Amino acid sequence: MPDVRIILVRPQHPGNIGACARAMKNMGLNRLVLVAPQRFPAEEAVARAAGADDILEAAEVVDDVPAAVAECVFVAATSARDHTIPLPRQDARAAAATLCARAGSGPVGLLFGAERTGLTNEEVDFAHVLVQIPVDPRFASLNLAAAVQILCYEIRCAVHTGEVPARDYPPASQEAFNLFLGHLEKTITDIGFLNERHPRKLMRRLTRLFRRALPDDNELQILRGILSAVENPHPPRK
Ligand code: SAH
Repeated sequence: MPDVRIILVRPQHPGNIGACARAMKNMGLNRLVLVAPQRFPAEEAVARAAGADDILEAAEVVDDVPAAVAECVFVAATSARDHTIPLPRQDARAAAATLCARAGSGPVGLLFGAERTGLTNEEVDFAHVLVQIPVDPRFASLNLAAAVQILCYEIRCAVHTGEVPARDYPPASQEAFNLFLGHLEKTITDIGFLNERHPRKLMRRLTRLFRRALPDDNELQILRGILSAVENPHPPRK
């Protein structure tokens, strides 16, 4: 099975964490990441895991979404609603195929929101795509573990059916990508393009643009070289 990390962001009920572990194990997935869980470890989680205790024991607990996706070359966020800066959207089946294809180059992450509030806009901004499970729009919000079950099932079905992306280098790490974004923000501030007092959504829009391109290390080096040349212009070489 591909290295797909199921990332539960601020889960409230330990019972749901256990049910998610069970859903994962049924489908052959085993990397569970918990971002600031309200209560964990908890007996209720073990009870609802119904034998998937190993997944709970191996679960990684982190403080925030950036830490959870740090190693991921591709991130998808599940949501029952729209978010302020719309991302490309896929249904569960298409998203599962994309995740399997991207997992060919490294770990991929699948974000799930908290029971009551879902994912914030800032958390969704870490994703390349937004995943929506087709439901009756009049009653669109699934139980967290039910949503995890559907995605894990689709991933199981999608293994080996997705396309393999053609590229000469693997996509850059999140760390390299974030360093590039920091460099970009600094440069466009220094040259007076980004007004710190009225930033609007400029950096969020640029983040989405560059995420969509899935740049590799080589491409990020080129872009950062351009930014350095903007900051320290030198006459063209003859
Ligand atoms: N009231 C919240 C719903 C949270 S449900 C909201 O409006 O966002 C808990 C989590 O289950 C969601 O954050 C999402 O990760 C997943 N989920 C629930 N229904 C979904 C759907 N129809 N499509 C995709 N993910 C869904």
